[in-house]
Amino acid sequence: MRVIRPFDPWKSKLCTCPEKYSFNPYTGCAHDCTYCYATYIPNFRHLREKKDLFRNLERDLKTLPPDSLISMSNSSDPYPPVERQREITRKCLSIMREYDVRLLVVTKSDIVVRDLDILSEMRCAVSITITGLDFLEPNAPPTEKRIDALRKVKDAGLPAILRFDPVIPEINENRLDIIDRSNPDHVVTSTLKLKPDSLARVSKILPGLNERYRERVGRYYYMKREDRYRIMKRIEEFCLDIGISCAFCREGFEFRAESCDGSHLVSTAQNNTLNKLKNF
Ligand code: SF4
Repeated sequence: MRVIRPFDPWKSKLCTCPEKYSFNPYTGCAHDCTYCYATYIPNFRHLREKKDLFRNLERDLKTLPPDSLISMSNSSDPYPPVERQREITRKCLSIMREYDVRLLVVTKSDIVVRDLDILSEMRCAVSITITGLDFLEPNAPPTEKRIDALRKVKDAGLPAILRFDPVIPEINENRLDIIDRSNPDHVVTSTLKLKPDSLARVSKILPGLNERYRERVGRYYYMKREDRYRIMKRIEEFCLDIGISCAFCREGFEFRAESCDGSHLVSTAQNNTLNKLKNF
């Protein structure tokens, strides 16, 4: 079975992502976010390692067109707590470095800082999700650690992307300090979108929230368009005022940044390091 697959944004007609591939070093996720959209995957909260992962990764890398962009990860987190000991994602990075792929790391964990030595030798950008919603993300590192991690990414000379996502009205919509303090190169933000199972879970913790979720877009419940627009535009304005590009994820609103996910920050110039694709 392929481990690198074309990115499928859950068939969302509002997705503005560039063409890219998706790679999940782990199956399932240990972070246990209440709002998680991926819990429809059977046994999702039980984190599993993939059989023959490294061999399958190399096999798939050999078939990718040059300069392919890989997003790691979209329906799991590449840095669950156990990664500190297991170093599975780290080993995957070592393999990907040899193929000179373009990589977008997407995580909620500060463990990514450990791998800046490898990432610094790759064409990549690091995106860290920071929401200020620690009470809804019980097993992910706390907000302050993530802010610190994003600053370290930038200090290491890598493009730093903040995912300020999800944004919930009256809960974290005013946490613009997260943007200011993490000082990223790019912000991608999005209002909370819920599937029926996550709507039920979140509503238990935030009673009354379901009153706002009346619009249906594909398989998701959305807040009213005017509410989403107000929240998104305020964040965009804040970012532009302090010189940071900003985009929205699956909102259906125009933005001025070159890409939504920050992939425009991942270099397209080939590395001079070993590139097995050329020789294959
Ligand atoms: S980190 Fe992402 S994939 Fe993991 S539980 Fe949270 S929302 Fe789901």
